[in-house]
Amino acid sequence: MNNNPYSKLFEPVKIGPVVTKNRFYQVPHCCGMGHLRPKAHAAMRETKAKGGWGVVSTEEAEIHPSSDLAPYVEQRIWDKKDIPALRLMTEAVHKHGALAAIELTHSGHNSTNLFSRIPVMSPNAQPVNFLYPKQSRRMSKRDISDFRDWHKRAALNAKEAGFDIVYVYAGHGMSVAQQFILPDMNNRVDEYGGSLDNRLRLTRELLEETQEAIGDSCGVAFRFAVDELKGKDGMQFEEEGRAVVELLSELPDLWDVNVSDWSNDSQTSRFQPNEGYQMPYVELVKSLTTKPVVGVGRLTSPDLMVKLVDRGALDLIGAARPSIADPYLPNKIKTENTDQIKECIGCNICVSSDNFSVPIRCTQNPTMGEEWRRGWDPEYIKPKLSDQQALVVGSGPAGLECSLQLARRGYQVTLAEAENKLGGRVLFESSLKGLSAWKRVVDNRVHEILQKNNIEVYKESRLTEDHIIELGIKNIFLATGSSWRKDGVGRSRRSPIQGLESIKVYSPEEAVQNYKNIKSSVVVYDDEQGYLAGVIADHLKAKNVEVVFITPASVVSPWTDSTLEQKRVQRSLINSGVKIICNQSIYKIENATALLECTYTGSITKVPCKSIVMVTERISNSALYDNLMQSNLEGKTQYNIQAIGDAEAPGLIADAVYLGHLAAQNFEADETDIQREMFMREMPSLK
Ligand code: ADP
Ligand code: SF4
Repeated sequence: MNNNPYSKLFEPVKIGPVVTKNRFYQVPHCCGMGHLRPKAHAAMRETKAKGGWGVVSTEEAEIHPSSDLAPYVEQRIWDKKDIPALRLMTEAVHKHGALAAIELTHSGHNSTNLFSRIPVMSPNAQPVNFLYPKQSRRMSKRDISDFRDWHKRAALNAKEAGFDIVYVYAGHGMSVAQQFILPDMNNRVDEYGGSLDNRLRLTRELLEETQEAIGDSCGVAFRFAVDELKGKDGMQFEEEGRAVVELLSELPDLWDVNVSDWSNDSQTSRFQPNEGYQMPYVELVKSLTTKPVVGVGRLTSPDLMVKLVDRGALDLIGAARPSIADPYLPNKIKTENTDQIKECIGCNICVSSDNFSVPIRCTQNPTMGEEWRRGWDPEYIKPKLSDQQALVVGSGPAGLECSLQLARRGYQVTLAEAENKLGGRVLFESSLKGLSAWKRVVDNRVHEILQKNNIEVYKESRLTEDHIIELGIKNIFLATGSSWRKDGVGRSRRSPIQGLESIKVYSPEEAVQNYKNIKSSVVVYDDEQGYLAGVIADHLKAKNVEVVFITPASVVSPWTDSTLEQKRVQRSLINSGVKIICNQSIYKIENATALLECTYTGSITKVPCKSIVMVTERISNSALYDNLMQSNLEGKTQYNIQAIGDAEAPGLIADAVYLGHLAAQNFEADETDIQREMFMREMPSLK
């Protein structure tokens, strides 16, 4: 370890009365498991501890039913009844020598209390943060005193549940403590409003009371958003952010620094390509306190981590997403296997799962969220059951993942790809404006594949049924992907658009390849309503193509709301001069004009349209699958055939990786064992 260039990252750090064994700190992050799926939650956090993280934290833990985050599934520590479920996590994490941290949260008007139905409360009376016609009531002095009691009681219960670090939380616009600090959320005229000292009073009380209650044996962490990135309209570090740090400087045992709101903290690589983008703030906080500081910003590169520690920018390498993409990141650095790190691509599919209240998933790490219910682990996979061989056709995300995992199990794998490069759709999508980091999905896998001596890769090999017969391998995984249809059938219109033969129609790939041939403006028609049409419009506009963006949706790329990007997507198109037409579906092309039908009234308007990029729906490339199945049916062959990824049903890159992984895990499993549709479930106790 002494000769390890990264040894600095494995030094212990004291956090109040506890000591973390190294500088790797998984900061609190949501995971869609929380109080509803405690076994799944504990197993997921345990995998991080097993992978070497020194500290592993929960997500937000509601301290009281007046802060009920339903329908979002977060953690809960309302009373002692929550302790056994939380203890599952602390015991699992402790088994591997890591510390367990809990983020105590009262969300003020960021909760809607849909489950508890208790009136929402916050510093001011104001609308709740979610689209629900409901307002919070202004907290009385009695409420403030009750809240402090709940927080203290939750801290004591957290200690009893085995946590080593307990948070006071003032970040993301999601905590009542932060709402008291921010002047536009606190217009009180009592001792909790007005001056910064007054607005900070509640946070100071929480920190002092938490220290008093559990500070003898637990570290007290303070998670604080030092800047809202709203300029003068919000908290700025150089104004009140710095002052807060100065006023509270030595009170917590640890500063967990970030920016607010969540979309600024968890920025995607599309809009924030820089690793360590929050470091300027973190470094400033570090200069104002002697207490340890943890900072985040998609930190993945060990060299950068060492540099940051060396120059005193922070003490602890904070990570949510890099720990999701690779729970074993610290161990890989420790053993100097840094080339094996699965790098986060900054796509926020993990975030989207929390927004849909389902267990977390990750594009890079298909085992994320499956630790308990399927028993998956990113580093260990069950060995092969026989000496059978497998053929994988297509090297997109599904084919690459499937081949790699079959090879890791020990099978002899043949991977055939029609093109001269491996990667499928990822090669195209990562070539688009803002998405270059997505290429890591391919690079990380190809790197590992090239090190295996049991995968033979054939590029420029478009396989037909005859080739497959010639090869003689009977286990066949068809990862042949999908193609964008060009007839206009999509989410809102199930029959083709008439008149398309009279204009130039491009698929997304064709438009990007032939953008120089687009002479006047082009219509980008988005009836998929995912992310791609917005990216294509942005990409073409950056190449000086005039773009008119038309969609039946009421905003641009509505799906990207779930990845915290929608506002940035629409802003970027508006700023670059793309003309946006929402709530309109194209029903006909006539005389180089698109006839648009209003999705509400059916009224017709017209827009010039000589060429169009169709982003509406994909069709699985299933011809080879169909032919091979037919050959089986006719009794000519006895193949074991499976279509995987987009060839089975088009979806996200994350879905393709997952389905490739699932197919490799299930290969040769006993029919009764095949967990394709079934997995373990946490059943409610009927006691
Ligand atoms: P997925 O997302 O499911 O992995 P992709 O569309 O990304 O699918 O990748 C499919 C890959 O399969 C592409 O790289 C394509 O060139 C390749 N492919 C399609 N048909 C064949 C074939 N018959 N033989 C070999 N490769 C094929
Ligand atoms: Fe990173 Fe995307 Fe995985 Fe989230 S889903 S951890 S952003 S790779």
